[in-house]
Amino acid sequence: MSRKEHLRGALARQLETDLLLGVQHVPLSSPSSATARCAHVGQSKPLTKRSASTLPPAPKLQNISSQELARRQEALRALDETKVKGCAKCGLSETRTNTVFGQGHAAARLVFVGEAPGRDEDMQGLAFVGRAGQLLTKMIEAMGLTRDEVFICNILKCRPPNNRDPAPDEVSSCWPYLDEQLRIIQPEVIVALGKPAAQTLLRTREGIGRLRGRWHDYFTSGSPTIGQPTPLMPTYHPAYLLRSPGEKGKAWNDLKRVMQNLGLPLPSPR
Ligand code: URA
Repeated sequence: MSRKEHLRGALARQLETDLLLGVQHVPLSSPSSATARCAHVGQSKPLTKRSASTLPPAPKLQNISSQELARRQEALRALDETKVKGCAKCGLSETRTNTVFGQGHAAARLVFVGEAPGRDEDMQGLAFVGRAGQLLTKMIEAMGLTRDEVFICNILKCRPPNNRDPAPDEVSSCWPYLDEQLRIIQPEVIVALGKPAAQTLLRTREGIGRLRGRWHDYFTSGSPTIGQPTPLMPTYHPAYLLRSPGEKGKAWNDLKRVMQNLGLPLPSPR
């Protein structure tokens, strides 16, 4: 493929993503741009050419040793194999086809948490692989990341029949698995997708319309007095965005806040 054809293809994919998310800006293609570096170091003005060239681009993954990465991968594998796969703590174990542990990188800086597996996820044993998952993939790519560079999971590891809302006893049985996943991965930012995820992680009854777009703290182990909180950004669930495409712009604004927090290259105004 010629360079021109390659560029045309990349541009077409970018425009498709823009349309999907209701994006009003053109993302910068290179993490070495001055604006990107400003976001990384939290500055409001572009840096001079000279100082900009000395700053490294924001990393996509946590900077951990290969031993630590292997330790986390093994901890996640053991949690799935020895606890989640055989779990029978609630009635969903009788109706599920597969448990859905979640998937992604053990050194992810960013973790997405959804509600529960749907039909496609239950069949495949993988999180966010249906229509909502395809939109989530586009949202992640619009942030300049891939699914392999983040971690994607759910509050519930089993599908509720007919995709009904998770019941309180199901959430309280399953939540410790998610809490353990987050303790192993130690992400820098969590994105809660939709009301059940946001309300569960933040222990609140407030609606997603009020929670989204603002930073909150996630405290592991259920206690605001133990450990350092992780910044959490609630946003709309991709399934809701498929039903209400007019809200995609708000979700994109939420994701741009996350990008800013992580120092990822921000879109420049068109
Ligand atoms: N919706 C979710 O909340 N999670 C999935 O994995 C799929 C759809």
